[in-house]
Amino acid sequence: MSKEIKRIGVLTSGGDASGMNAAIRAIVRYSLYKKLEVIGFYEGYKGLISNDYTVLTGNSVGGIIDRGGTFLFTARSEDFKTKEGLATAKKNLEADNIDALVVIGGDGSFRGARDLTCLGVNAVGIPATIDNDIYGTDYSLGFDTSLNVIISLISKIRDTASSHERIFVIEVMGRNSGELAIRSSLAGGADYVLIPEIKVDLVKISNAIKNHREGKRHTLVIVAEGAAKATDVAASIKLLVEHEVRVSVLGHIQRGGSPSAMDRVLAAQFAQKAVDFLLGGGTNAMIGIQNNIITTMPFEEVLSKKKEIDRNLFELSHILAL
Ligand code: ADP
Repeated sequence: MSKEIKRIGVLTSGGDASGMNAAIRAIVRYSLYKKLEVIGFYEGYKGLISNDYTVLTGNSVGGIIDRGGTFLFTARSEDFKTKEGLATAKKNLEADNIDALVVIGGDGSFRGARDLTCLGVNAVGIPATIDNDIYGTDYSLGFDTSLNVIISLISKIRDTASSHERIFVIEVMGRNSGELAIRSSLAGGADYVLIPEIKVDLVKISNAIKNHREGKRHTLVIVAEGAAKATDVAASIKLLVEHEVRVSVLGHIQRGGSPSAMDRVLAAQFAQKAVDFLLGGGTNAMIGIQNNIITTMPFEEVLSKKKEIDRNLFELSHILAL
């Protein structure tokens, strides 16, 4: 449904990711530049249903570009998934005179946005997830920041591993995707990486570590949370390799921190495209970046396809660990 866009709503939904604040700031400031009004709903779809919002001005988004998390907060809302919840959301958007909604989040949030478009609401998505598992975009906001946090932690672990000649198994996030693990391994100089997309033979890996250890002061194994539990991997390695194995589950520390330059720049580019897309009559699509070009892709396509991992990066990480 195409209508003149004068006032837009923005919300952050699902898992938090650094760069969400930079995206809100850019949506607000670029919209104001385009003579649009912007309101921000608190706590994602939860705030949309309870109509909990604030009017966003240029000043209200000052000083947030370098802050992790999201100042509009985020939440998961089961109510929103119901027919009644969706209808309430649509009713509130109409009552607030919102002509289009910008949803900053992951694929779950885009399913919600797609459902809203089915009721005639204009909506566009900006990908933000540290997992970087969304089809239709090479990068999502938060991924690069998280990666940088992880490699700085790997460096610290390497210091102690090397001093004591230890094997370390390091568990990273990523839900069902190995994206974060593969790049953490490659950029962090790890020896092995276990990901959900490629079946893991722990005996083979343990034997390889056994042979590998000759002349090495440390061995670093990265495990994606979707592949296995670091404690199980460590136990298996310990059975076959008579050497001390330590575990480090990095946990929520991977989600925080000031967004990287890449995430801030990407946030600005995504926001500009989102607003221009809506002003041009576009709806029901996700903004993305593919081969360095800012793109749009219908939600239906984004949600029906699976993002493939880069197998070359996976193999290269092992080749370079020689
Ligand atoms: P993410 O956006 O990070 O993938 P979630 O999967 O938790 O996070 O989704 C965030 C919110 O989006 C959910 O709490 C829910 O309100 C909405 N949502 C998720 N999946 C669906 C779905 N299949 N249909 C409608 N709304 C959904």
